[in-house]
Amino acid sequence: MPVYRDEAVVLRTHKLGEADRIVTMLTRAHGKVRAVAKGVRRTGSKFGARLEPFMVADVQLYEGRSLDIITQAESLGSYGALITADYGSYTAASVMVETADKLTESEGSLQQYLLLVGALRSLSRQEHGSHLTLNSYLLRAVSMAGWAPSFQDCARCGAVGALSEGGQHSAMVVQMGGIVCDDCAPPGSPRLDAATIELLSALLTGDWEHASASPERTQNQAAGVVAAYTQWHLGRGLRSLEHVAR
Ligand SMILES: [Zn+2]
Repeated sequence: MPVYRDEAVVLRTHKLGEADRIVTMLTRAHGKVRAVAKGVRRTGSKFGARLEPFMVADVQLYEGRSLDIITQAESLGSYGALITADYGSYTAASVMVETADKLTESEGSLQQYLLLVGALRSLSRQEHGSHLTLNSYLLRAVSMAGWAPSFQDCARCGAVGALSEGGQHSAMVVQMGGIVCDDCAPPGSPRLDAATIELLSALLTGDWEHASASPERTQNQAAGVVAAYTQWHLGRGLRSLEHVAR
């Protein structure tokens, strides 16, 4: 029976029978894998809490007829416990794993795996505010999937825009891919403050110094744009996003 080993982050689990669980994982090398963890719900299970959502583990599996079976799991990062202990981090991580799950429906990638693990690690260490970590993750994950937003030049016609000094476009149309120029903007398009556009750009590039210094009002406006942009591209609602406090 073919056995393989990989690093994996647990996206979600659900009960199977009396004591088992089906664990959906994003792996480093094998894309998304759904596998059975036998006996994981019994006290004293050899898996302990290593196969809970947000955990990163080195797993060994063997290929089953329909689902693979997890035979071993060693923890690589105890992010799960730290994240679950903080409500803001927990809700942010829930949105991240749900997004990763949807973005990797057809196939996972090493980049999506590394991005998710990095974001969960940052969240568990509370390096930046949980909202900022979440919004940066969402923009990058959606970009990596092929839908990079434009926050500077017009997303439709490419008309050059500046990020500051008054030369910027301000109409935000998620359906068009981001910021658009006045000629392309449909009547009544929402307008963003220059500070919000700069923050969105900082979140996309990982400029944490700029992002952390931005006022709450700007962060809230940016969060709304990121949520709308992500929802639009995922094609259906992210259930967990409703629980993120705004
Ligand atoms: Zn344009």
